[in-house]
Amino acid sequence: MASFSSVVKSELSNIEPGRSCCVLAEVAGSVCTNARAQPDGSMIFVTENSAVARRLFKLLKELYTEIIQVSYMSSFKFKKHTNYTLTVPVEAVSVLKNDMKQLTINQDQLCCARAYLRGVFSAVGSVSDPQKSYHLELAVRNIEVIEPIIQCFNLFALNPHVIQRKNNHVIYIKEADQIVDFLNIVQAHKALLKYEDVRVLKSVRNDVNRLVNCETANLDKTVDAAVRQIEYIKQLQQNGVLYTLPEPLQQIARLRLENPDASLKELGEMANPPVGKSGVNHRLKKLEQIAESSGNNENQAAIKD
Ligand SMILES: [Zn+2]
Repeated sequence: MASFSSVVKSELSNIEPGRSCCVLAEVAGSVCTNARAQPDGSMIFVTENSAVARRLFKLLKELYTEIIQVSYMSSFKFKKHTNYTLTVPVEAVSVLKNDMKQLTINQDQLCCARAYLRGVFSAVGSVSDPQKSYHLELAVRNIEVIEPIIQCFNLFALNPHVIQRKNNHVIYIKEADQIVDFLNIVQAHKALLKYEDVRVLKSVRNDVNRLVNCETANLDKTVDAAVRQIEYIKQLQQNGVLYTLPEPLQQIARLRLENPDASLKELGEMANPPVGKSGVNHRLKKLEQIAESSGNNENQAAIKD
């Protein structure tokens, strides 16, 4: 099964490239994070994702139709992975570098900020399957690109963290809301919907668990309460106080002894005449008070109900 990252990347690879400013911004995002200069002045871009390689190839051709018939792609197998290498020839490299210098991304160029982040993610990004965890990261080698990338995030009110991992600087977000925002920004809308589906399912599952736990806790409380009620009713029976009490109290006491599993509501329904849950509760509380006071002082105080 394809990883969630590759699902996102193949969706990004099929987005309409858009305005030429955005095409350049997307190329810049990929090139500045993942291209390597070669001794002969050319540049190579290596990726395991064929859709990403084809995308960059297509964007470069769109920018430099006249200068480039020159980009070419090759692939080789390394261990289990196939790597795709795109070579940008010397002539194109100098024009591209010049164009990238002119590139400005700010508040007024949000279209380009989206495209730039898309290029960066395609080149060096990954996002974990939301079933497992919430984590999106961009692993870059050169430190100079961290700041522009973070500025782009900030344009959309996202605040990523940065850590050093081996030779890479890792820009990452772990908040599910922010990851969803990011997918929206780079326009991976189908992946976003999948992500949200999983999130909703997970949270429904959590809610159900919480509810089940909560009901179990309430049940435990009910059982504990019934055990205590039976204890003090038996005490009242043994010291003879029970039979001196008003009939409504005696009746609830009898019903409780006969129906240890019944809820207060059920006890109330069995009473004659029926009483509400709070009425039953009140009578049981009264029985408890009487049991306590009759246990404490041997002289049985007169009881009013
Ligand atoms: Zn643009």
